[in-house]
Amino acid sequence: MVEIQCPHCEEDIELEDDVFGLFVCPHCDEEFLWEDDDYDEDVSNFENNGSNNPLMIIVGFFILLVAVIVGFSFDTMVGVMAAIVIFGVGIGVLFAAGIMALLRK
Ligand SMILES: [Zn+2]
Repeated sequence: MVEIQCPHCEEDIELEDDVFGLFVCPHCDEEFLWEDDDYDEDVSNFENNGSNNPLMIIVGFFILLVAVIVGFSFDTMVGVMAAIVIFGVGIGVLFAAGIMALLRK
């Protein structure tokens, strides 16, 4: 048996092990959701994915830095074009990181 608290009336409710889903509280007749252990794993994975975003932003800025260095290193049209392309990739990575951060909220 597992003992949980009703989210509505905060009375203790006893449930069988390994039963999950929607239950009706015997004390207040309100429905509540009791999730299984996989839910907790999803939450921790979710947090792990979230921590990847700062890394993506660092990588994005690094690519922008490389673009600036390339742009100043080559005094030719090819160098400028390469810098613009690398700059675009950096912006793309930052944009993707921003979109992913927004989607997770
Ligand atoms: Zn209740």
